[in-house]
Amino acid sequence: MFDKILIANRGEIALRVIRACQEMGIKSVAVHSTADADAMHVRMADESVCIGPAPSSESYLSKAAIISACEITGAQAVHPGYGFLSENAAFAQALEDHGLTFIGPSAEHIRIMGDKITAKVTAKELGIPVVPGSDGGVPDFETAKTVAEEIGYPVIIKATAGGGGRGMKVATNATELEIAFRTARSEAKNAFGNDEVYMEKYLQRPRHIEIQVFGDGRGDAVHLGERDCSLQRRHQKVFEEAPGPAITPKLRSEIGMICANAMKKLNYIGAGTIEFLYEDGKFYFIEMNTRLQVEHPVTEGIFGVDLVREQIRVASGMGLSFTQDELEINGHCIEVRINAEKIPNFSPCPGRITQFHAPGGLGVRMDSAIYDGYRIPPYYDSLIGKLIVHGRDRPEALARLKRALSELIIDGIDTSIPLFHLLLAEPDIQNGEYNIHWLEKWLAQKFA
Ligand code: ADP
Repeated sequence: MFDKILIANRGEIALRVIRACQEMGIKSVAVHSTADADAMHVRMADESVCIGPAPSSESYLSKAAIISACEITGAQAVHPGYGFLSENAAFAQALEDHGLTFIGPSAEHIRIMGDKITAKVTAKELGIPVVPGSDGGVPDFETAKTVAEEIGYPVIIKATAGGGGRGMKVATNATELEIAFRTARSEAKNAFGNDEVYMEKYLQRPRHIEIQVFGDGRGDAVHLGERDCSLQRRHQKVFEEAPGPAITPKLRSEIGMICANAMKKLNYIGAGTIEFLYEDGKFYFIEMNTRLQVEHPVTEGIFGVDLVREQIRVASGMGLSFTQDELEINGHCIEVRINAEKIPNFSPCPGRITQFHAPGGLGVRMDSAIYDGYRIPPYYDSLIGKLIVHGRDRPEALARLKRALSELIIDGIDTSIPLFHLLLAEPDIQNGEYNIHWLEKWLAQKFA
């Protein structure tokens, strides 16, 4: 086991990893930009190193600065959290070249899943069901038309190099396709410097269901069920729950075993999430994230396992602390993302927090790095906390979420808290009846 781990991240996820280190008796090293000198992760870690100025390109994304920080402090391994360098194959490789351990999968697996077309081809080869579509890049409009006729309209055109829900266009007929194809290509070129696009059948009312997988690095792998992350705004998740309200134990076990077996074949190591669209009893692979997800706590809650601890264990060569048979679902978990944003237009709202009071009580978990008097810097993500509740069943979790939200106080800035009070009053949310388009439609009606 490692003696010392460096956390190449900030905010709530840095705290999350430090907490796991503390419980495992491992020393932690925080890194920070000059804008984060007063941040909670710096205070909580055993040591800290300033790695550069405020812009993340010169600090949290600086591979050289992070590797130097490992050398200065004697950290043997790096936990990347999510975002920043967590899915950067070159970083994983650079650590290995310096004799350091990347707490995550191999550089090769990060690379395969980081390219959307290679990921889809690989998923198909591994026996994972994929969305019908072009089997690779679509070079011109004529090919696009042929593909669309084969799979049937509506279709979605996506940038091969895309991410963060950007660069997608939907077409319902050939005329629309011509325009959509050209705009998607030029937008992809501008946003990602690569105009390659691919096509998929556009699903009209799917849920976003993702399967948590874990490879032990010894050829075995398990799944930890699903999370339903269908409530999205601009393809960004805002509310996540496990188990998924639409997923039966049979469906879970079938898709879960397909994913676990695929990870065994790949000899995958560490945590991963296989994302699907789910409609009418069928799953369609869209992508795989080779890292810990923001919403991992809902899975931790229902299975009672610490996923960061397991990441550290497998990275050190110890294997997982549980088998598939030992994993049993207990109750229901919901997470809401607390962002420093003004509702309803979701504009970022950095500033000073004048008062913070975290909710408590049975089944309530608040993962956040804010404190009284903390000034949120304007340079980074607007996520300032995650409120996670656990109940014996979904109605209990919903009631607990409502109660915890009313205890939570964050003064001095605008946050997404009022959005969740409104959502919890909606019958569709109470009944778990929503798909990936529900939130956008509701927002358009509510705040028209
Ligand atoms: P990104 O990497 O940019 O997040 P994804 O491929 O993961 O892109 O897709 C993001 C979101 O876009 C999905 O969660 C879903 O809401 C929507 N989406 C993607 N593919 C399709 C599709 N074939 N049909 C309908 N919606 C889709």
